[in-house]
Amino acid sequence: MPPPTLLHFLPMAPSISLFKSRDVAVIGAGAAGLVAARELRREGHKVVVFERERQVGGTWVYTPTVETDPLGADPSRHIVHSSLYASLRTNLPREVMGFLDYPFVSTGEPHRDPRRFPGHREVSLYLKDFVVGFGLNELIRFETEVVYAGLVEDEKWGVKSRSGNDAAIDVEEIFDAVVVCNGHYTEPRLAEIPGIDAWPGKHMHSHNYRTPEPFRDQVVVLIGSAASAVDISMDIAQVAKAVHIASRSVEAGILEKLSGNAVDNMWLHPMIESVQKDGTVIFYDGSVVLADVILHCTGYKYHFPFLDTSGIVTVDDNRVGPLYKHIFPPHLAPGLSFVGLLWKVLPFPMFEFQSKWIAGALSGRIGLPSQEEMMADVSAFYLSREASDTPKHYTHNLADSQFEYDDWLALECGIPGVEEWRKKMYQATAKNKKVRPDKYRDEWEDEDLTLEAQKDFARCRPNGGGDN
Ligand code: FAD
Repeated sequence: MPPPTLLHFLPMAPSISLFKSRDVAVIGAGAAGLVAARELRREGHKVVVFERERQVGGTWVYTPTVETDPLGADPSRHIVHSSLYASLRTNLPREVMGFLDYPFVSTGEPHRDPRRFPGHREVSLYLKDFVVGFGLNELIRFETEVVYAGLVEDEKWGVKSRSGNDAAIDVEEIFDAVVVCNGHYTEPRLAEIPGIDAWPGKHMHSHNYRTPEPFRDQVVVLIGSAASAVDISMDIAQVAKAVHIASRSVEAGILEKLSGNAVDNMWLHPMIESVQKDGTVIFYDGSVVLADVILHCTGYKYHFPFLDTSGIVTVDDNRVGPLYKHIFPPHLAPGLSFVGLLWKVLPFPMFEFQSKWIAGALSGRIGLPSQEEMMADVSAFYLSREASDTPKHYTHNLADSQFEYDDWLALECGIPGVEEWRKKMYQATAKNKKVRPDKYRDEWEDEDLTLEAQKDFARCRPNGGGDN
């Protein structure tokens, strides 16, 4: 890490005349794009946010609509952005989940969800409140999809967009910088299953899972063990005949009936070895199940169909690179940046730190290292991942080092890092989830931390917005 320079410690609200104001295009108005827009404008930049949908919130805008291809593999399919299922409640307590200076507290209004782990609609309403609170609506062009973003002469970026009304006409504009915030939970990743082409059952990805009813009395094989796989398996088990979970983390030879849940029709297996044309699914431990459905809860791929960097930025086995600190391609910094690529993290606060850093780097208030230094940092990071045998597709999984990463960004920006109570509450929730996978949203033991959070929030303006 380069040592902080004097510039890093200048105050957050700079005298704008000292620093450059840039024209910045933000792609996407989910949580990342919204906080990026706020930080860019706070820094004195002129911001246009392009949003393909007709409302803000990205992932958090639930829709019962699913794609025409249940696997989400057909490139010509009509894309549905959100992967939320109807029953989804947050997997993080609202205190840790919200933006740092805009607490995600219950508003107390009758139509709102006051629970500590609220349903998805409450998150979407919180993001809408954030937009109103910071007057961001005027920056957003709704139903406007970016179809191309590429470098043109003089370090400027050409952005072509298509709006709902005039779908046939592309509008081209020039910006000083592009901040990519298009999300990464829309393009399914699928498990490879020998024999799948001849298997007669239904085959789908969790991107297109909404409600359990279509699985009533069926035998379902679900692949995966991440948060949404756990939720969806419990959702489906309420109505299905049986749910068989195939997971990499289960050793061959173990067939375990999951107990301790409200239902007793869930089984744990190692991965699928093959499937047969008679409808059977064979697992690596030799167990065989006659199944109606295979449901891939196998995650998503990074996908930037609009982005043209002449090969400088590539996606290789789900590694977006080269990127300095998962944000800036060294050869295109600070003109091109990405917010929100990291996973297994606390997303909203991290988006906020990343956005502040980008905004400061674009104005020149925060110095970036040279291209060579940034490339050397990226290479060292890749080498460290190889040394720890971390697969390439885990490049943006920050897991244990997320708070170190946030605090590093905070230091660069000259602001306080992640609050101690937030770090502890995140860890307490992870532990609680392991012990009570089906009850952690309603039973917990970290009241002391919630009190600390409430005290901290009292110092912020409660969901009432702030500066523009
Ligand atoms: P998104 O929310 O996906 O927003 C991207 C936006 O970009 C969308 O509005 C999209 O329409 C727009 N867009 C895309 N392409 C274009 C284009 N070409 N032109 C214009 N606009 C475009 N996080 C938590 O903190 N807590 C949770 O409990 C939690 N649960 C989750 C459960 C599920 C099932 C999933 C999938 C994710 C969950 N997350 C959770 C993570 C969640 O994705 C992040 O919280 C966050 O919403 C991501 O925000 P984003 O802005 O990066 O992306």
